[in-house]
Amino acid sequence: MATYISPEEQDPLDLGWMREALIMAEEALAHDEVPVGCVFVKDGKAIARARNRTNEWRNATLHAELEAIDHLLPHHPAPLNSITLYVTVEPCVMCASALRQIGIGRVLYGCGNERFGGCGSLLDIHSTPHLPTDPPFVAQGGYYREEAIMLLRRFYMSENSKAPQPKKKTTRVLKTNIPPPPPSRPSSALKNVQSTPSSASAPSSTSTLTPDSDLGEKYNESSEGSTTAGRGRQGLPIGSTLVATPRNMTPSR
Ligand SMILES: [Zn+2]
Repeated sequence: MATYISPEEQDPLDLGWMREALIMAEEALAHDEVPVGCVFVKDGKAIARARNRTNEWRNATLHAELEAIDHLLPHHPAPLNSITLYVTVEPCVMCASALRQIGIGRVLYGCGNERFGGCGSLLDIHSTPHLPTDPPFVAQGGYYREEAIMLLRRFYMSENSKAPQPKKKTTRVLKTNIPPPPPSRPSSALKNVQSTPSSASAPSSTSTLTPDSDLGEKYNESSEGSTTAGRGRQGLPIGSTLVATPRNMTPSR
């Protein structure tokens, strides 16, 4: 079961880094990639940033997380338990496994990944005790969740020119209603994940019982919704809000 942190509980510093990840996701969208972006942070500094490049290289393993891991491992050998990954979408099973193998300390993500998520939505790769050789890691979602979902919707609204048989989507309408996150494990349980990876599964008081469906084209199959562009938490257009970053903590790139 995934863990979602309510907006009131989210640390502004974490939100600042998630905005950096959203910038990478925007870049992916601009390059006709599934819009997922990430940044790895150590001691208040970004040590790697990446985005999906699966279409560019026709390589299904080039998810943002693995792209970044490739770049950072030579300089930051595992284990990476002092490093936090900020990623706009819950890591898939493949990436979650890789993150556990490199000993990542913490993963914060935007929206859940109901179909492929390896940090609670589909499998508990981050916390399962059945991987005894690699330590579990904290995984918490909900950071700019709406913005992450809207980026995905914008991608799936467009026609994928690289698809064998591109679907005509000219009649589709961008939906802007965001369903609440699915049932969530209490965030307090995750603080003890290192010692009790399978503890506590009671629903959070901030969660609802609505199934998550953050990913996939199902969001756009319906004509429900409006044509209004996506709006961020502060009511600003998504694409123009992503430059507000804790620059004093951001290293030169
Ligand atoms: Zn992945």
